[in-house]
Amino acid sequence: MKIAIFRGHNTIYNRGANGILKEEEMINDVAFKLINKLKSAGETVIDCTPTQDDFKNIHSTTDSLRIRCQRANDAKVDIVVSIHFNYYNGQAHGSEIFYVSEKGKNLGEPVLNEIVKLGFTNRGMKKNSSLYVLNNTFAPAILIEGCFCDSIRDTTLFDGEKMANAIFKGLTGIEGKFISTAPTASKAQIDSWAKDKFLDSDYKELLDIYWDDCIAKKINPVILFAQMSLETGFLYRIPSQAGIDASYFNPCGLKTTSGGSNTDPNAHSKFKNWKEGITAHIDHMGLYLGLDGYPKDSTPDPRHFPYLKGRVTTVEDLGKTWTVSNTYASILLKFSSEIESTEIIVDTDLEKLSNKVNELETEVSKLQYLYSDLSSEILQFNSKLSSLEDSIQLCTEKIEVLPSVINNLNENIASLQSFVDKTLKHYKDITKA
Ligand SMILES: [Zn+2]
Repeated sequence: MKIAIFRGHNTIYNRGANGILKEEEMINDVAFKLINKLKSAGETVIDCTPTQDDFKNIHSTTDSLRIRCQRANDAKVDIVVSIHFNYYNGQAHGSEIFYVSEKGKNLGEPVLNEIVKLGFTNRGMKKNSSLYVLNNTFAPAILIEGCFCDSIRDTTLFDGEKMANAIFKGLTGIEGKFISTAPTASKAQIDSWAKDKFLDSDYKELLDIYWDDCIAKKINPVILFAQMSLETGFLYRIPSQAGIDASYFNPCGLKTTSGGSNTDPNAHSKFKNWKEGITAHIDHMGLYLGLDGYPKDSTPDPRHFPYLKGRVTTVEDLGKTWTVSNTYASILLKFSSEIESTEIIVDTDLEKLSNKVNELETEVSKLQYLYSDLSSEILQFNSKLSSLEDSIQLCTEKIEVLPSVINNLNENIASLQSFVDKTLKHYKDITKA
């Protein structure tokens, strides 16, 4: 199936709403995860959202929508899925899907059913003949309003991974535990689970490698660590059926290129160290998942056959293709859920330390407040100081002209005095006469 994904808004002249969460961030979170899942399930996906290069051709909302529809139509896609999140008055909540054709309605119904299973209120399938993307795409199209980005209820419930899984399941009908996801447990949870299962702490080196390398490849490290635990019998606590041991650095029973019997040690690959063995495991899984960049040109995986590409999406698939076994997938699912539900008991010393850190952080934030108060006072003080300086300057200027003023005044007094003298003399003269 060829699927067009429209990440709503995300261009100039067409921006998403800002609620408690930002609509565009929610859209991208869900859409990119959905795209990966669809690709790993073997679907062809076209992200029709305009990119930075298109922005010069966008002068209105319609331009932003027209480009998407054109791309979907040119690619002759089978379905169009536009992803949005709603915004209203903070009270409205729930999920709804818009459609215009009957085919659109049939496409959207299972998607909405899956989304509301996550706990969102079902606002229903809504026929709407005024939405540009529904009216201007040839293929059946739906516009999903996942939930409300300004609702406390909805944003608390929202989880991009779960929303992407729900839409994926609704579109493809594929159920199960996805392998290409973010970690579903913390490293500390895996560590705590492993402590009780492995004989000693040898697993720690492997956990470090799995954790970093899986996350880099967008594979859930919980599943691959569980798979290693199963395949090696907890690093040979349970003796290997194949007769191999830790000196093979083979974490998942990978055979040599030529292969051979499950019980023949020589049919199994021997790696230089755990790093190389785990890289082979992850590359083999990346190929099975059909992730971007697979098959790789260079890999320690001895059985990196291109025809294996995209054979699995979920843990459930592994029991049918990776190996043929009725119990393989269910054991992996059991291990994964045990890891995910492992509770971390915090060491008391560690707890004290982290309390201390918390206290210190509080102190630092108090100091930061104090500092910001202080700096605003300093600012005020500085402005007062500079106005004071201006006044002093003015005074100095006045003092400078004061002598000449006094001089003038003296001259005036002198001339007044001489006038008074003259007048007095004149008066005397008159009285004499
Ligand atoms: Zn929107």
